Amino acid sequence: MDRIKWEEYFMAQSHLLALRSTCQRLSVGATVVKDNRIIAGGYNGSVSGEVHCIDEGCLLEDGHCIRTIHAEMNALLQCAKQGVSTDGATIYVTHFPCLNCTKSIIQSGIKTIYYAEDYHNHKYALKLLDQSGIEYKKITFDQKHVAQYLLNK
Ligand SMILES: [Zn+2]
Ligand SMILES: [Zn+2]
Repeated sequence: MDRIKWEEYFMAQSHLLALRSTCQRLSVGATVVKDNRIIAGGYNGSVSGEVHCIDEGCLLEDGHCIRTIHAEMNALLQCAKQGVSTDGATIYVTHFPCLNCTKSIIQSGIKTIYYAEDYHNHKYALKLLDQSGIEYKKITFDQKHVAQYLLNK
């Protein structure tokens, strides 16, 4: 049996979190990791106490759902709320972060971004990442470990 690598494990965690998304437009999950420990996780969803898009439909403006906070932001804000430093951390996301999330990720001191799928990779986001010396790498979510787990049950 193949031992799951840390990178694969954290990416799997982000995919699990994406299943918690409350907006149908895109299910995204994000996991913030420091020293191989998960310090926060997030998925795209409404502000606490607000209705969910899956119940009420999206709140659209210019083709974007304005109700949701993105998974990456939710993970970073969880750190802010709990007083956990994100400096030097790594973030695992199911999709390449949007421009606003990219800016927040850079500003939070995160040094590495692993993403599973390209998603409108914004030119300016890429420029900012290169300029900031942040490593970003696509690592595909390998479902073989999930299959292996289910087979061994
Ligand atoms: Zn929505
Ligand atoms: Zn975003």
